[in-house]
Amino acid sequence: MSQMSTEPDGIRPSLTRREDIPDEQWNDWRWHMRKRITNLDKAREWIRPTLLEERAIAETAGKYRWSVTPYYASLMDPYDPGCPVRQQAVPALGELLEFSGAEVDPVGDMYYRKTNRVVHKYPDRVIMLITEACPVYCRHCTRKFHTTDVDGTYFERSEGEDFSEDLRYIAGHPEIRDVLLTGGDPLSYRDGKLEEIIAGLRAIPSVEIIRIGSRFPVLLPQRITPDLCAMLARYHPVWLNTHFNHPKEITPEAERAVDRLLRHGIPVGNQTVLLRGINDEVDTMRRLMTELLRIRVRPYYLYHCDNVTGVSHFMTSIEKGWEIMEGLQGHITGFGVPQYVLTTRLGKIPIARPYHRETPDGLALRNYRGEEMLVDDSVCPLTESAAAHGFRHAPDVTENRTTATGEGAR
Ligand SMILES: *Cc1c(COP(=O)(O)O)cnc(C)c1O
Ligand code: SF4
Repeated sequence: MSQMSTEPDGIRPSLTRREDIPDEQWNDWRWHMRKRITNLDKAREWIRPTLLEERAIAETAGKYRWSVTPYYASLMDPYDPGCPVRQQAVPALGELLEFSGAEVDPVGDMYYRKTNRVVHKYPDRVIMLITEACPVYCRHCTRKFHTTDVDGTYFERSEGEDFSEDLRYIAGHPEIRDVLLTGGDPLSYRDGKLEEIIAGLRAIPSVEIIRIGSRFPVLLPQRITPDLCAMLARYHPVWLNTHFNHPKEITPEAERAVDRLLRHGIPVGNQTVLLRGINDEVDTMRRLMTELLRIRVRPYYLYHCDNVTGVSHFMTSIEKGWEIMEGLQGHITGFGVPQYVLTTRLGKIPIARPYHRETPDGLALRNYRGEEMLVDDSVCPLTESAAAHGFRHAPDVTENRTTATGEGAR
């Protein structure tokens, strides 16, 4: 094979490869944090930036933070700016374009914020924005203003103070049984500080489950250490949701991190964002979902990309989302199919197209191949009164059911 086809510019210093880095460093998440790529020169160790990327890096500097872990950089195609990993991590000029309807907080996190960190939007659960920091600043971040904008933040004060006011709010609202730690990335904290927060939550009797939203399994899976998992396991029930967007991100390192979490009893779910040019193809999404199942991660949500300032260029259409969902449903197992939602001020709204419609003759059902059938009231009663009507003609059945229920209740 010709070297020239993969290394078009032999004059420049050669690119770094995973193999060039000793395991001791590669497996140490702190090494990756110290070696994060934050400027063009460092980026050149991993990729050959295009002129457009160079311009974007220069023009977004001072406006949006930029940081990429060497681990995540190693997944980028060094020569292809269209690489799905690269597009998530390298600034693009699209971030500076003004889109109509774009907002810094379209889902109202700031509006529903009750303390510095607690966002209380649903009756029984809250999110706690415990930090602004992330190992990689994903270009498509839905909280771009909070995490990535140099001058932006959802916080009133700077982070890193004590959490007593936030914990007091949660303790004072016993209807909150589910707390989701998010940010930024909660695992940006060292284990000790994280444990302090989690222990504080565990001390509140009304808090039943603690959830963590973290992209570390994707951006720096080495962060998922035995010590971290052992600490989390002391505060069960703890759940973790991560954020894989493309099958390329499912690496042996990521698989090991997920395995470690699962062995510590932490169920791992995944939220994917539908992103133009990155994962907006049925084949890609199908591979992503089946690969997630292979590493025992349960697909949870597929988010439609919100019209967030600096992110709008990644937006697709609902039509595209439907196409993707219809390419998943029925083609792979039901638990590999995420729920397609639009995040709004009113909450996350399921927007997948239904597989049934009501007709005067009953329910019209369609399968994943588009084949339709009608189930009338005698087969599948639509309403409670239709169901009761059916039983009137079969008194024996009604009696048997009553008896059976009575016995079962004992
Ligand atoms: C997403 C979100 C939650 C959690 O939603 P689930 O559907 O339970 O995963 C809670 N609060 C806010 C404000 C959210 O945005
Ligand atoms: S890790 Fe999550 S919170 Fe942080 S920049 Fe990426 S998407 Fe945003």
